Amino acid sequence: NFKFANRVLDIGTEKAFQVLAKCRELEREGKDIIHLQIGEPDFNTPKNIIDKGKWALDHGYTHYTQNVGLIELREAIVDYTKNYKNINTNINEIAVVPGGKPIMFYTIMALVEKGDEVIYPNPGYPIYESLIRFAGGTPVPMPLIEENDFRVDIDDLRTKINKNTKMIILNSPANPTGGILTKEDIEKTAEIIKDKEIYVLSDEIYDRLVYNKTVPFSIASIPYMKDKTIILNGFSKTYAMTGWRIGYGIMHENLIEKIDRMIANVTSNTSAVAQVAAIEALRGPQDEVDKMREEFKIRRDLIVDGLNSIDGISCKKPEGAFYVFPNIEKLGLKSEELSDYLLKEANVAVLDGASFGEYGEGHLRLSYATSQENIKKAIDRIDKAVKRIN
Ligand code: PLP
Repeated sequence: NFKFANRVLDIGTEKAFQVLAKCRELEREGKDIIHLQIGEPDFNTPKNIIDKGKWALDHGYTHYTQNVGLIELREAIVDYTKNYKNINTNINEIAVVPGGKPIMFYTIMALVEKGDEVIYPNPGYPIYESLIRFAGGTPVPMPLIEENDFRVDIDDLRTKINKNTKMIILNSPANPTGGILTKEDIEKTAEIIKDKEIYVLSDEIYDRLVYNKTVPFSIASIPYMKDKTIILNGFSKTYAMTGWRIGYGIMHENLIEKIDRMIANVTSNTSAVAQVAAIEALRGPQDEVDKMREEFKIRRDLIVDGLNSIDGISCKKPEGAFYVFPNIEKLGLKSEELSDYLLKEANVAVLDGASFGEYGEGHLRLSYATSQENIKKAIDRIDKAVKRIN
C-alpha cells in the first residue's frame, strides 16, 4: 500500500517486456518458444566496437564525462549526420544519453505540459503516448494505416493541428510497421507547421535499416525546420548495441542547455566506455552494418512470403526497420486474442497490433531479428495453429 505520487499511477510500458516475462514462464515449463516479439538485433556488437570498449577500460575511460557526452563522440556524430543525412550540425547541438529512449523523455518533459497536445504515430512506439501523458500533455493519435502504406495522411494531420498543438512525433523507418515516410510526406508535414511554434521529435533510430538503397529523408534537412526539430538517433539498432545503452539527440542549443541540466539531475552522463565504443562504431569500418542489413533483407523476404502463404493473413513488404505488420482481420480474432493463442498453441511469441495503439488493431507485429531457421519454423507453426481456428 504505497502512497504513490499521481504521476506514476498509470505510466505505460512496452508490451514486449510483458510478453517476454510470459515466455520465460513457459520456457521454465520446458516449452520451446520462438521469439518474434523482440525489438533488438540478434547479432552481437561488431568486434571492432567491442575491442574499443575493452581498450577504453584499459585507457582510463572509467570516469565521469561531460553531461552531454565526450567532445570526440559529438564530433563523430556531427560528421555522421553531415555525411549520411546531409544535415549540418555542431557539437553544441548534441546530447549523448543512455539509449535513444531518454531523448524522448527529456525533450517531452522539457517542452510538453498540461494543455499541450502532441500528435504521435498510431500504431507507433508505445513509449511516445506514455510519455506525453506522463508530462501532463494530451496525446493526439496520427493514424498510420495500411491502406495508406502506413504513411501520414496529410489531410487528416491538417485537421488535428490547433493552437494547443505543441509537438508532432515522426518515426521513419517506423516501429511497428517498418514503413518509411516519403520526402513528399515530410515536406507536406513541414509546410503545414511552417509558421507555427510546433516542434517535431523525429525518431530516426532505424535510419540505417532500409532495404531499398535510399536514405530516409529527415525533416531537419528542411532549413526552416532545423531549429524546431529534435532528431533522435542512436547505436542500439544499427550497431547491435542495445545493451551498451547509448544514443543521442540533435536539437537547438537552447534546448540542449535544459537537457544538460536534466542529465545532471538524472545520470550525470552516459557510460564513458560506451561513448568510446560509439566513436569506433561511427568512425570505424561499416561492413558489419552492411552485412547485418543484407541478412535482415533476406529474412524480411522470407517472413513476408511465409506470412502471405498462410490463409487469412496478408502482409505488405516494408522497406525499413526489422518488423512486419501483417493484417490478420480475416482470421476473426482480435490481435491480442491471436497473439495469446499463438503463444499458447504454436509456441511463437509475437506482439498484438493493438498494443501499438488502437489503429494497430487487425495486425500483429513480428520481428525478424532472428535466424532464418527460426523464421521458417515459426511460419510453419503459425500456419498449423491458424488452420485450427474454426
Ligand atoms: N525508438 C524506436 C522507434 C524504437 O523502436 C526503439 C527501441 O525499440 C527506441 C527508440 C529506443 O532505442 P534505445 O534502445 O536506443 O533506447
